[in-house]
Amino acid sequence: MANQFSKLARKSRNNVSTTKVDKEAVDNPPLEIFKLGSETLRTKAKRISKVDNELRNLAKDMLQSMYTAKGIGLAAPQVGISKELLVIDTNFEDSAAEPLILINPEITAFGSTLNTYEEGCLSIPGVYLNVVRPSTIKLKFRDDMGRPRKMNADGLLARCIQHEVDHLRGILFVDRVTAKEELKTLLNKEGYKMKDVLPLD
Ligand SMILES: [Zn+2]
Repeated sequence: MANQFSKLARKSRNNVSTTKVDKEAVDNPPLEIFKLGSETLRTKAKRISKVDNELRNLAKDMLQSMYTAKGIGLAAPQVGISKELLVIDTNFEDSAAEPLILINPEITAFGSTLNTYEEGCLSIPGVYLNVVRPSTIKLKFRDDMGRPRKMNADGLLARCIQHEVDHLRGILFVDRVTAKEELKTLLNKEGYKMKDVLPLD
């Protein structure tokens, strides 16, 4: 028994990330996810100066709302909070894999190779369309303990981070879609308005 306790104590000391939730859908997700047309999605997020329990609790609530909605990424502006906070989990099917909590994320370099991939967004359910983006990125951010971190990403993770960082600047993936007719048809079908898209090209 004593041995088990010391093992647990060791484990909790090593496990510095406290921002974790069960990767299960909950009946009443703690946060509402705003949809295309909401002002909050177009509001530029503010940098976070203090990483404290309040912020970690917000990240937990965001994770729970994201898992419930079956998403792989969620930005604070999507839940009505204009702060530079993202939660991402591209390994949502692996209950042991830790999610990423990105505070004040900044993409510092883009790779020169582009790729095309179908994206969707929890703020625009039902709409999935191709978007062209760089396939690799370098990123700096603060983690959920406020420590400065750097990482390289490729594949789905690089794609997801770029999509979420866009949210912090009030940009949505539909703004980047080049197939405008397809976009219009799909938005109409799902009950959204083309005027809520702000094309970048
Ligand atoms: Zn999104």
